[in-house]
Formats: sequence, C-alpha cells, structure tokens
Amino acid sequence: MSDPELRKRNWQRLAEGSMWEGKEPNPGHRALVELERQGKLHTLITQNVDGLHRAAGTSEDRLVEIHGTTSKVRCLDCGDTAPMEYALERVRAGEADPPCRICGGILKSATISFGQNLVMADLHRSEQAAMACDVLLAVGSTLTVYPIANVVPIAHQAGAPVVIVNAEPTPFDGLAAAVVPASISEALPLIVAA
Ligand SMILES: [Zn+2]
Repeated sequence: MSDPELRKRNWQRLAEGSMWEGKEPNPGHRALVELERQGKLHTLITQNVDGLHRAAGTSEDRLVEIHGTTSKVRCLDCGDTAPMEYALERVRAGEADPPCRICGGILKSATISFGQNLVMADLHRSEQAAMACDVLLAVGSTLTVYPIANVVPIAHQAGAPVVIVNAEPTPFDGLAAAVVPASISEALPLIVAA
C-alpha cells in the first residue's frame, strides 16, 4: 500500500472489472435471505469477502462480514468507508489513485488482510449473537479460522444446538446436534423450507 505505482496498477486492474465477472448469489445465499424473511435470522456472520450476501438481499444490520468486503473501500487513515463502485468510477474517470474524499488518505478494499486484526466491534457482535442464539447454523466453513470459529463452541456452551452444513468434516462435528455433509446450494434451501 505504500507504493503508489503498485496502487495505480491495482486500481487499473479492479476498474477493468475482471474480478467481478460471473459472481452472482447462489441458492445458498438466497436461502439465507428467505430465512431472514421468515423472521428466523438473527445474525449472519460471513467469512466471505465477495459481498454476495448483501447482493442477494441480506439486510446490512443482520450481516457481519468478519473478514471485510471487496464491495467497499476503507480509508487507511480515517477509516471512512464507501462503496467500491464509487471508487472505481473515479478511476475510470481518470483518477489513477483516488484518495479519501474526507482526509485525502489512501483507500484500500475493505478486507482484513492475513495477519491484520479483525474489527473488534464485529467480533464482539458475533460472540454476543452466538451466546444468545436458539440455533447456530455453520454453513460452508472448515471452522478452522480463529478467532471467529469460536462462535461454534460459544453457542454450544450456551445451550444452542449446532447444525453444521459442510461437504468436508470439521473439528466441531463431534459437538454438533446434526452434521449435513452436502452441497450448500442443495441442502440450505431444504433446511430453510423445513
Ligand atoms: Zn480518510
């Protein structure tokens, strides 16, 4: 991020748009929107950074993107966030390295890089939701990335049944009330409809 030439090249690559092509919400994303519509979704914690839960229609106030999102930019200096698309429009309009509109700082996609700390408020919110939930559905995660994987034992210890939907075994299969080793796109719509 400290090299302006690299930043310009990165913006150019993003503005050309190839990384966005073909990324559409799937039946798994849509099933979680349906769960919210039924009034059964308290909090959706995602490790994905692709913004597809929001694109599918999950409400912002139900969503914790614990590893950030490529659909927004964040200022490294003042922390202000804005939609990625606005920044890309500025690049296409000729700004090679668009600065923060508020403080002039460097903008970067609003993801948490490896080794960077999570946003504490998001982690706290996730843990609170795990403590208070009636059921924890763990979907399509190996449950090996910490500290967020801790929400599974937190919910279990608080007395909530844990249901794991994942094609591969996870370290928490032993404490789960049910393990569904199936494709998310197939299993999740059926679970939500039940
Ligand atoms: Zn700023």
